[in-house]
Amino acid sequence: MNTPAPPALTIRSLRLVPVEVPMTFALGTSADVIRLAPLLLIDLETEEGVTGRAYLFCYRRSGARAIIEVLQDAFALVKGQRAAPLEIAALLGRRFALIGVTGIVRMALSGLDAALWDAVAHAAGLPLAQLLGSASKPVRAYNSSGLGLIGADAAAEEAIKLLEGGFKAVKLRLGYATLEEDLAVARAVRRRLPDEIAVMVDYNQALSVAEALRRGRVLESEGLFWLEEPIRHDDYVGSATIARELSLPVQIGENFDGPKAMADALAAGACDSVMPDLGRIGGVTGWMQAAGIAAARGIEMSSHLFPEVSSHLLAATPTCGWLEYVDWAIPILQEPLAIKDGYAVVSATPGSGLAWDEQAVERYRME
Ligand SMILES: [Mg+2]
Repeated sequence: MNTPAPPALTIRSLRLVPVEVPMTFALGTSADVIRLAPLLLIDLETEEGVTGRAYLFCYRRSGARAIIEVLQDAFALVKGQRAAPLEIAALLGRRFALIGVTGIVRMALSGLDAALWDAVAHAAGLPLAQLLGSASKPVRAYNSSGLGLIGADAAAEEAIKLLEGGFKAVKLRLGYATLEEDLAVARAVRRRLPDEIAVMVDYNQALSVAEALRRGRVLESEGLFWLEEPIRHDDYVGSATIARELSLPVQIGENFDGPKAMADALAAGACDSVMPDLGRIGGVTGWMQAAGIAAARGIEMSSHLFPEVSSHLLAATPTCGWLEYVDWAIPILQEPLAIKDGYAVVSATPGSGLAWDEQAVERYRME
């Protein structure tokens, strides 16, 4: 049987819409409290009529504005070119080398890359996971919504609510002023949940190495699943000390700036497992390179945010770990990511499963 080749796509136009979506549970970390999710919606249109979509979580309004500037600049450099993600990544990496592909620039280029892959998957008529060679298997997910720095009683109450949908794991933010407070909250949540529910804890870079060792040594006998970003994200030497000294597995990766940062972290022994972020690792292209590094080293790889696209990517990741589930994009999506018995069901339609609810987009459009 001869299957016609999918059409080559030519980049035509870019539509960028920043929205601010109310969150069901505030994201209260040791660094900041976020109640409205600033998302940037990216629609990349092609001459052939195929549209590729992606979204970025911009952390702050100013982040969205800055990323729009960079994305418009990047788009002007690739307009009229073939929508081939690897070629575009190489070209833009070179053209942005002087300012540096990091931070806001990295996020902008990652978003463009994810939209390009979505377009290619649509043109091929395949879910992204299948385009990447996976059978689109379900991916185990933990509920990472909520569980901010809200105190022991409130956190224990909220943890129960987060099990709806059959989740078998939740993530708790720590980084209170004292070890005693961290311990009280961790114990309250751990005791309120059934034993089989995993509890990950995340410090969002709050501690010094010495303090991470002090708190970690106490927390490691509390039945927790992993210790995330206890210290500054790029202190791989310090992180390696913590990973070596504690029996509690150290998890980092949401701040890996491209696959090389992950390779450097693993070479330094900075962590026991990794969780790259689609928007910082370099989009789908960067993710797949990172997945190769993790596979070569036999390191479990989980995801950070963007559960819709990350479910496809994890399905195609040889050392697939956990999907970080947040519900932030649900209000602007036509079809939210389905969770069944604690597993993410990878969308079966062509692309990465993103389509906007245009009425909601208008409602939440950022001023
Ligand atoms: Mg984190």
